[in-house]
Amino acid sequence: MTGTKEPSFRESVDLMFNRAASLMDLPPGLEQKIRVCNATYTVRFGVRLRGEIHTFTGYRSVHSEHMEPVKGGIRYAMAVNQDEVEALAALMTYKCALVETPFGGSKGGLCIDPRQYEEHELEQITRRFAYELAKRDLINPSQNVPAPDMGTGEREMAWMADQYARMNTTDINARACVTGKPLNAGGIAGRVEATGRGVQYALREFFRHPEDIAKAGLSGKLDGKRIVVQGLGNVGYHAAKFLSEEDGAIIVGIIEWDGALYNPEGIDVEAVRQWIVKHGGVSDYPDATHSAEGAAVLEEECDILIPAALEGVINLDNADRIKAPLIIEAANGPVTAGADEVLRKKGTVIIPDMYANAGGVTVSYFEWVKNLSHIRFGRMQRRQEEARHELIVSELERLDRYLGDAWTMSPNFKSKYLKGADELELVRSGLDDTMRIAYQSMREVWHSRDDVEDLRTAAYIVAIDRVSSSYRAKGL
Ligand code: NAD
Repeated sequence: MTGTKEPSFRESVDLMFNRAASLMDLPPGLEQKIRVCNATYTVRFGVRLRGEIHTFTGYRSVHSEHMEPVKGGIRYAMAVNQDEVEALAALMTYKCALVETPFGGSKGGLCIDPRQYEEHELEQITRRFAYELAKRDLINPSQNVPAPDMGTGEREMAWMADQYARMNTTDINARACVTGKPLNAGGIAGRVEATGRGVQYALREFFRHPEDIAKAGLSGKLDGKRIVVQGLGNVGYHAAKFLSEEDGAIIVGIIEWDGALYNPEGIDVEAVRQWIVKHGGVSDYPDATHSAEGAAVLEEECDILIPAALEGVINLDNADRIKAPLIIEAANGPVTAGADEVLRKKGTVIIPDMYANAGGVTVSYFEWVKNLSHIRFGRMQRRQEEARHELIVSELERLDRYLGDAWTMSPNFKSKYLKGADELELVRSGLDDTMRIAYQSMREVWHSRDDVEDLRTAAYIVAIDRVSSSYRAKGL
């Protein structure tokens, strides 16, 4: 997929790290300690399926243990390899530092095409993989907490959590061993949508800063902006859906594994999602033009490009043809180090992956805290909050009666104000706050230093600085 001169994904992450580290004043040796991956475990295990033994290869990489547990998703894809999990684990370290979730970085993967297996076969494979990881504490509520990634979701997380609980029958915190579980198995409201929701909050925050909008050569608000999204999976679907339904953005292009849809008038994201669920891909979708050469649509005219599928899709082969002035990296590593340089020179603004897709780990953090505290968010406060609001509303009603026609309460005020926040509202509020604060911390470095040209370098500087303070405080 990428050109011959292109570094590997892990080398790409290291090059971006080095660029930022060269602008920092780190003690000798610390830079190397932060950059390197601590350990990668490779496991090969057999599962008897359809009368034969099938051997699978899986990985769990731990990049940095400056904070524990370490955190990071588990990916199911044929292309999974050691270089990829190590790159993704490194990104997790920097991501967690940037959004202030108290974790080190980790990542896992299994070489498998999930589409080739029945549900009960996938359960067998997943439970066996989880067993191999849990027995080495690579799944553990206080040491290593996986989450979903490409090819995995709530279902796989529920199997893993259950497998861990069967192996650790007296661990009262067993449910905190993985995040992204279904609500009825210890999950949290808002986790499924979290990464896409975070992309929406990131763009909303970007569009609150006229100086930043101008740097991308754009103007105005999110409303009416034309967006191309690659990958209508968990992340891409939620991002595209919320941006089009709630912020007035127009989804003009959707790229999937079997080609791309394009319609300058806008594409109905929900309708395409339903089409994919039913037909397995976007081919033959009626209300847009379909092109078999999907990746070419990355080069279409649009205001915002959201790569939300794979790494390395914007590379030295196509970077100079990318027209979008603003790219938000919903996927991990969609822009290679080489392409990043080409785009930077062109003035393209890139909102980097370690920030843009941090919504997932942020809400995973809330889920982990919920599991450890054994209580749903809002359970203690909600009715008490409503009772206090009731006091104010009854006073206002008294005033309303007293003032007669001179003043009345606005319609809907009472019902809106009376309602105490439920878990979903609290999760969204915590996510929004996290995305705003993290953006501001990157932006502060971006605007205050002449030697920092881009948001990615700024994000690395903030993250590396936090990891290094943690190492300095507690030793190596
Ligand atoms: P997913 O498996 O739900 O969706 C991926 C989508 O990409 C699928 O619809 C798939 O058909 C599509 N796709 C596959 N090959 C493609 C190709 N060649 N061209 C276009 N589309 C293609 O995965 P996801 O969880 O949405 O993850 C997507 C990206 O977001 C990954 O880089 C992942 O690491 C990152 N991410 C995910 C989360 C999360 O919470 N799920 C969190 C942070 C980052």
